[in-house]
Amino acid sequence: MKQQGLRHPRLLHTYADALSELITPIKPTPVYQPQLQVINHDLWDAMGLPQEWQVNDTFMALLFDRDSTFTEHSVAQKYGGHQFGQWNPQLGDGRGLLLTEVEALDGTRHDLHLKGAGPTPYSRHADGRAVLRSTIREYLASEALHHLHIPTSRALCLISSSEPVYRETLEKAALMIRTAPSHLRFGHFEYFYHDRESGSDPEVATDKLNQLMQYALTEHFPEALASDNPHLSMLSSIVQDTARLIAKWQVYGFNHGVMNTDNMSIHGITFDYGPYAFFDDFEPHYVCNKSDHQGRYRFSQQPSIGLWNLNALAQAFRPFAKIEDITKVLDQYEPALVEHYHAMMLKRFGLSEVTDGALAMMALFMKLLQSGQGAQSGQTHVQQLDQPDEQATGINRDYHISFRQLCGHTDWDEIAQLRDNYLDIALFDQWFAAYRTEAEAQNVAFVTMQTNMNLANPHTVLRNHHAQAVIEAAEQGDYSLFHAYLSALSDPFNEASKIERFAAPPVATDKGIALSCSS
Ligand code: AMP
Ligand code: MG
Repeated sequence: MKQQGLRHPRLLHTYADALSELITPIKPTPVYQPQLQVINHDLWDAMGLPQEWQVNDTFMALLFDRDSTFTEHSVAQKYGGHQFGQWNPQLGDGRGLLLTEVEALDGTRHDLHLKGAGPTPYSRHADGRAVLRSTIREYLASEALHHLHIPTSRALCLISSSEPVYRETLEKAALMIRTAPSHLRFGHFEYFYHDRESGSDPEVATDKLNQLMQYALTEHFPEALASDNPHLSMLSSIVQDTARLIAKWQVYGFNHGVMNTDNMSIHGITFDYGPYAFFDDFEPHYVCNKSDHQGRYRFSQQPSIGLWNLNALAQAFRPFAKIEDITKVLDQYEPALVEHYHAMMLKRFGLSEVTDGALAMMALFMKLLQSGQGAQSGQTHVQQLDQPDEQATGINRDYHISFRQLCGHTDWDEIAQLRDNYLDIALFDQWFAAYRTEAEAQNVAFVTMQTNMNLANPHTVLRNHHAQAVIEAAEQGDYSLFHAYLSALSDPFNEASKIERFAAPPVATDKGIALSCSS
């Protein structure tokens, strides 16, 4: 491989160069019959990657040839992490490699990270691979979140293979290249902080923490360098970005599932997708991760866990700032999260002012979502009570559909007619009156309100049962469902991109599926 022409992006390896003591150089291990199965053309083109790399043999040579300059500096990164509250120093890239960093034509920088690349010193006796199921789930979710304007790592491409791997059953290995501004996790900083106290030479360990901090500042938070205390300023950015991210998860009903500190990015992006899910019905205490027996990472707990994780990260900043200054920075998290959450939730109602009346109206709607479902179209209440329809038996209402149903109306009377969809009609009427009063008080034209609501309430979100159908087809070599679902998820606010099958709420038996961590 050579870097062709001026129009191609630069490939860098700043991490490998600057932090040579914090990495293990290692190449991807070839897999059996690799196939460049899915390419994210928008992202590929935005980064300016060469079109000629999209040929299967060419791409596999880039990844797996021993003398490929593309992987000349590929590395496994060392980090640790708090997993379910317990410190684990044994972590690192056990199946992923940082291949290279791309400086795109617009000057932005993107890590290219190959997931499922084979064993590394951090594999801890595992195979270093990922399965097709989990790479499809990560691909779909990261694109879905991106198009909901939720910060996230992104999927550049998916490589299928015929290589068998064992999880609960026999599955096929797959690889994915994902992009992110960097792969620096909270756990990177925690590791090199705690390593100073764990038998390593304290001076060497301190040196490594310094190097890591300096690297993060120079490469990723250069604006912090101008402040009185650059480290504190960087921490403050991380706090703000994490608050904004988690507020967005809460707004759209996304449950990450494994918020261990090794899965938290310093860029405030959604990172390391595992058994994640968007809930279907509005269930504040939803737990998507079957292995999370205590519900530590349940939906309602995500804002607090975000702060817990930031506290763990902040320990690593203690050599660089006074404890009271660190505390002040951490204290900014909660108000920032609440402010973003309120502003974004009210956008879903087409309102731009966060007033007491608007918040009370919103609280009524959330209560309404938990007050049961009424008749579906074509049914009466009696029919529904006598012969419960599968789609109408949930105790709570489908979160996403309930919001989208507020869109696409020409006047208030049309919204008022939604009352037949609710069991607690008195509560509906109370909410409706509050909504209309507030919208009128905010002096927002109905048409403007509806236009804004269309841009804030998706017609399609990622549902586990659809993802499962996509996976089962792909495992048989049929990616047509994958592409269809991906296209709806990639344009979630545009009615023209809606595909009925993927927009419909699930039947009762398909709701709230929880998955294990196995991937
Ligand atoms: P994850 O659950 O994907 O966040 O991974 C947690 C830790 O386990 C990370 O250090 C991973 O690199 C490692 N890991 C997970 N799965 C594998 C695997 N199949 N082979 C090697 N390491 C793995
Ligand atoms: Mg992880």
